[in-house]
Amino acid sequence: MSRQPVVIIGSGLAGYTVAREFRKLDAETPIQLISADHGGFYSKPMLSNALATGKTPASILNANAEKMAEQLKMTIRPHSRITAIDPSSKTVTLQSGEKSSYSQLILALGADPIRLALEGNGTEAILSVNDLDDYHQLCTALKGKKDVTILGAGLIGCEFANDLAVAGYRVRVIDISVQPLGRLLPEAAGAFLQRRLEAIGVVFHLGAATQCIERIHESLRLTLANSEIIQTDVVLSAIGLRPRTALAEAAGIAVNRGIAVSRSLQTRYSDIYALGDCAEVEGRVLPFVMPIMHAARGLAATLARTPTSIKYPAMPVLVKTPACPTVVSPPDPGKPGEWHVEESEDSVKALFQSADGKLLGYALLGTVTKEKNLLATQLPAVME
Ligand SMILES: Cc1cc2nc3c(=O)[nH]c(=O)nc-3n(C[C@H](O)[C@H](O)[C@H](O)COP(=O)(O)OP(=O)(O)OC[C@H]3O[C@@H](n4cnc5c(N)ncnc54)[C@H](O)[C@@H]3O)c2cc1C
Repeated sequence: MSRQPVVIIGSGLAGYTVAREFRKLDAETPIQLISADHGGFYSKPMLSNALATGKTPASILNANAEKMAEQLKMTIRPHSRITAIDPSSKTVTLQSGEKSSYSQLILALGADPIRLALEGNGTEAILSVNDLDDYHQLCTALKGKKDVTILGAGLIGCEFANDLAVAGYRVRVIDISVQPLGRLLPEAAGAFLQRRLEAIGVVFHLGAATQCIERIHESLRLTLANSEIIQTDVVLSAIGLRPRTALAEAAGIAVNRGIAVSRSLQTRYSDIYALGDCAEVEGRVLPFVMPIMHAARGLAATLARTPTSIKYPAMPVLVKTPACPTVVSPPDPGKPGEWHVEESEDSVKALFQSADGKLLGYALLGTVTKEKNLLATQLPAVME
């Protein structure tokens, strides 16, 4: 009897990295990767940094599904959505009704952009960019247009604001928070980033809630809760992501904010694992590249019969706002401490320290970003 394959659902960074790492350890076991999208491999972080350099969706794609299948010696089924998992028969059901068996199942399902509940007949026009197809849609929507309004001044919102402004668009950013990167930066650092982005033309509407969006001929009209009206061509929403958990939940797998897994990335079923933006590892959802790389290496070892508990070192995040180089390593929300901020004309160095002076997190903006590696050596591990 032929061996059942390891089945990976999802062709994002999580799905492909675990396939690549597993292949380094095991050249023989069949792998089947099933994806709802085109199945090609590309760098998602590049999407918020691509317009200014004129990158097209085609130029961002590193390799299509066919090439990836050849490279990693596996079967890939693009444009195939999984609609159900049956842990008792160890099968997954495709949208076509076809069933596929697995020996071990990896959920690398990613996350969905959160949509604001807004009034008005223009809500359908709101775009968000969470994959290559979305980027294609954005490029199409921007053709011949000048004004872009971004909902959300978080990491992705600020990166797009910088990119669009450099690409020649008039950019507005709306957020209910009173500063950009409100969840990651202390006040002085947020103000510094705001000034740097304003210097390249970005207009911020902070402490402001969007209420309504209406289509008026070719343009869109936003009404804010403070009655301010903004006329714009394109609206890009970047208010956050929600892990895709429905498929797992319907199969009886525990979910909290993400699909709940142990430190070996195992769900309550011993042969079903989850990693990447869809997963919650011991209470933590970390939708970034570095945690995925660590998780994928650990999971590959587990799949290759070396049970491995993953560890996360400190993993500072580089914010891709060239107008204001920024690196953040946010402190663990539960850890008591205070921000100590040193500000100069061309930098902000903010260190989050415990009462006994231990470094628990940092935010470095401008010229002090060069200290990021040295300071990172003093940070505690995210998960030891
Ligand atoms: C614009 C942008 C910029 C970013 N920049 C950075 C950065 O600078 N640094 C950083 O660390 N992180 C960054 N991130 C975050 C990082 O890119 C993500 O954490 C990472 O790419 C997530 O990978 P993933 O494989 O978990 O999910 P995804 O890439 O979303 O992949 C999910 C896959 O699952 C498939 N799928 C979902 N449901 C089903 C189903 N039912 N059946 C079949 N297939 C299914 C999808 O089609 C997709 O292939 C950025 C994110 C964005 C959106």
